[in-house]
Amino acid sequence: MTKPTFSIVAPIYNELENIPELYPRVRDVMDQTGEPWELIMVDDGSTDGSTDVMRKLADNDERVRPVIFARNFGHQIAATAGVDYSRGDAVIIIDADLQDPPEVILDLIEKWREGFEVVYAVREEREGETWFKKVTASLFYRLIHAITNVDIPLDTGDFRLMDKKVVAVMRQMREKHRFLRGMSAWVGFKQVGVKYKRKPRHAGTSKYPLKKMIQFALNAITSFSYFPLQLATYIGFIAAGLSVVAIPVVAILRLTTGTALLGQATTLIIVLFLGGVQLISLGIIGEYIGRIYDEAKDRPLYIVAEAPADMENKEA
Ligand code: UDP
Ligand code: MG
Repeated sequence: MTKPTFSIVAPIYNELENIPELYPRVRDVMDQTGEPWELIMVDDGSTDGSTDVMRKLADNDERVRPVIFARNFGHQIAATAGVDYSRGDAVIIIDADLQDPPEVILDLIEKWREGFEVVYAVREEREGETWFKKVTASLFYRLIHAITNVDIPLDTGDFRLMDKKVVAVMRQMREKHRFLRGMSAWVGFKQVGVKYKRKPRHAGTSKYPLKKMIQFALNAITSFSYFPLQLATYIGFIAAGLSVVAIPVVAILRLTTGTALLGQATTLIIVLFLGGVQLISLGIIGEYIGRIYDEAKDRPLYIVAEAPADMENKEA
């Protein structure tokens, strides 16, 4: 097979009904570029028969390249594996549920041809998503923007094109808890956004339940910010400052009016409040320590059970 110019990476977890639609859409779009391409489907431990559908597609079209994981490792890791295996001069990450319309890839490629090394797709509109998802996502992007010093673009998912220069750097970044959209911003180079309308899912349901969303948000924050760790310091200064002011006030009141200002209830509330703040601070430290522990163990990011014989993992 000739070396592809473009590698499309689609992480797939139980997308049985979407794969038969994804493949022809990607094929029709990519054939318009007039350049060789490959579609790397990373099977993230699907249990619904998606794996067999991928194998069959690969039998009929050698440009389809299934990389099959030994179990579910999560979306960000699956996308990472696709990037590790890619051979193209430009790599495009796309969701398999067709929320990211493959047609937009042509706009991404156009910008790449103009000389941009990271072209990310910005969601101008999100159709068919719950208000809960929209509100939490919007808050999340703004929070990340506020507390990190990496310029992570707002309302931007993993749907993006990366030049092979960027891919080479990404292959060296082996952190276990991954926030790809932040990592590809951190790299630098010439970056630009392209607006698009995010569609509803073609079929099936979201593979991101609330628990995974929270985990994802925590990974993003801890990977790119120390702010949560500094919070304890700030609250400590405020509490200490308040107590310094409160001591003379209470003393004067006691001496002049003779009444004890504070009752048991007030004491209880303050003890509970500060106890709570301390436990939360410990929990925050715990989040970071857990991640340090995962890095220290240094286990492989993913385990590939099956990949085409001529595919090579270029992980640095
Ligand atoms: N996905 C994956 N592993 C997972 C969860 C999701 O590979 O553990 C894939 C999924 O098949 C889809 C993409 O990641 O192609 C985005 O997931 P989803 O559409 O469920 O997320 P949402 O769009 O609801 O945020
Ligand atoms: Mg989706």
